[in-house]
Amino acid sequence: MNILSFDIEEWYFEKAFLGDRPSYYRQYDHYLDSILDLLDERQMTATFFCVGQMGAMFPEVVKRIYDRGHEIGCHSNTHTWINKMSRDEVFEDTRQAIDSLQQCIGKKVISYRAPAFSIGKENAWAFEVLAECGVERDASVYPAVRDFGGFAEFGQQKPSVIKRGGCTIKEFPICLTRLMGKEMAYSGGGYFRFFPLWFVKSRMRGSDYNMCYFHIDDLKPENIGVMSKEEYEFYFKEPGSFKNRYMRYIKSNLGKGNALRKLFTLISSMDFVNIEAADRLVEWEKAPIVNLD
Ligand SMILES: [Zn+2]
Repeated sequence: MNILSFDIEEWYFEKAFLGDRPSYYRQYDHYLDSILDLLDERQMTATFFCVGQMGAMFPEVVKRIYDRGHEIGCHSNTHTWINKMSRDEVFEDTRQAIDSLQQCIGKKVISYRAPAFSIGKENAWAFEVLAECGVERDASVYPAVRDFGGFAEFGQQKPSVIKRGGCTIKEFPICLTRLMGKEMAYSGGGYFRFFPLWFVKSRMRGSDYNMCYFHIDDLKPENIGVMSKEEYEFYFKEPGSFKNRYMRYIKSNLGKGNALRKLFTLISSMDFVNIEAADRLVEWEKAPIVNLD
């Protein structure tokens, strides 16, 4: 089972923080439309995790995705990382986001992905909060150590049932590969840009579960500039030293030149389902149970 997912947030960032430049919206629309066209052609659907503010500020983008038959999931309200929020804040953020997306598409939103995989051992209570807000399926777990976020103690890389505080959530974690003694992703984000396509495909063919995940910004060939100290500290909540900002610049731009072409080749040559369909395919009674109490 290969799952295809996208996190949709760039329009919101542009409007809220980066200058509301029309040329950027045109670029994002263009990349999104080309992905939607290819998925139509392949008769495949993906899950698009949208920030709630996309529903409020850019309802036409969310509707456009939904009207083409894709699943709309929630990617928080304002892309604030879950590990930077209190329990009450997470509740309010998730409630607002789901509300705004549901109003936009007129359908229940029950799939969720935290920004930057920011649910881990320290804030596993977040699953309880998500369940209280109506989330039934989650794709927030990166089951290894990572620059930001990550949940190394999770212990599963396949669909699993999370139990926490009397709540149950179906988890679709990121899948990993071991390379030079380190567990890392291969099927999305910066890892997908970095690895050659033959490597990604061979890992995917060797696994019966793959979770592919992309942001439009991962795929846009145009370079992202070095962030200002203020931008960096606002976004990453850590000191915006030159080293930190420059390392982020390199990671953000690595392999960008042909990432979109690689994604198109991948979608053209392998079959994918969205999380809604994957939920029906998983034999949940045989799935591992991860008890987070
Ligand atoms: Zn995101």
